[in-house]
Amino acid sequence: MKAMMLWEPGRMELVDLPLRALGPGEVLLKVEACSICGSDLEGYHGQHPKMTLPRVMGHEVASTVVQVGPEVECLSVGDRVAGMGSLACGQCPPCQAGKRDRCASPLSPGFTAHGAYAEYVVGRAQGCTPIPDDVSFTEAAVAQPAGIANHAVSTRAAVCPGEVLLIQGCGPIGLSAMMLAKLRGATVISTDIVDYRCDLARGMGADLVLNAHRDNVREAALDLTSGRGVDKAIECVGGDQDETIPEAVACVRGGGLVVVVGSFAADRATLPVIDFKFSEKTVTGSQSMPEGYGPIFDLIRSGKLDLAQLVSHRLPLEEVDHGLKMMDTKAENVIKVVIEP
Ligand SMILES: [Zn+2]
Ligand SMILES: [Zn+2]
Repeated sequence: MKAMMLWEPGRMELVDLPLRALGPGEVLLKVEACSICGSDLEGYHGQHPKMTLPRVMGHEVASTVVQVGPEVECLSVGDRVAGMGSLACGQCPPCQAGKRDRCASPLSPGFTAHGAYAEYVVGRAQGCTPIPDDVSFTEAAVAQPAGIANHAVSTRAAVCPGEVLLIQGCGPIGLSAMMLAKLRGATVISTDIVDYRCDLARGMGADLVLNAHRDNVREAALDLTSGRGVDKAIECVGGDQDETIPEAVACVRGGGLVVVVGSFAADRATLPVIDFKFSEKTVTGSQSMPEGYGPIFDLIRSGKLDLAQLVSHRLPLEEVDHGLKMMDTKAENVIKVVIEP
């Protein structure tokens, strides 16, 4: 099968890989759509803390089951599925004892096992979620960033009707968080430092959109809330910067909440500790999507959440590195690139 191999940082090549035999609980998936994620970009630059090279990346995947391994009962050939779970390593003591479901060091496709920038990928049946008939492969591929936003908005921030939110970042997760917070009845201020992303947030329904490098976000937040400050802030920027967390803390009201979703390149961020302490503000994190794909699929099916508008480009397998470079430089007004092998 064809796959895009990342041999070393910055060097990708289309290669031919043999299909391997399936182990217990595993399924062979024909990749229908796989969206490029910010963590692929970190991997491409050799900066992802967990990714090992050489590697076929790609994890935001929607696929069709084409073969099932031994002991697979929950899926059949022809099923349409999102995600692919993690694989048993086959080498740790539990795996050696035949208890692969208790693997001590599971492999993550796209990071520590080969992923979905390929014609086929091996997944774990129990890590695959069936896609409803009326949700497209493309929508299912971008449902993962929306699911990550949903965990932050619905569980970690528990956004309620009438609240005012600051959502930093208008990438796929920030835009999804904005749409989900609006669906829960909140008023949303969205920020970014790239104008086309600000325009997109405006078009997608944010109540107020600011360029964080040009506009005074704190003043605008206070203006909108009669001097009180926003109820909650959700940080969806991450990367190599130390601006968003101090800004979020400065914008939330006394007793307010800051939820950090972004993946940071360095393990530190400035906290305006005096304000934080005296105003009894809370900073917390949000990781992954324990609620799964279900809530997002339901919103897509009901017509309330249009994720197709996050997809700016569709590219063939051979152009994964072109997609990564576009994301790197924010060229061609890129938001989400979906690879269709
Ligand atoms: Zn991802
Ligand atoms: Zn194992």
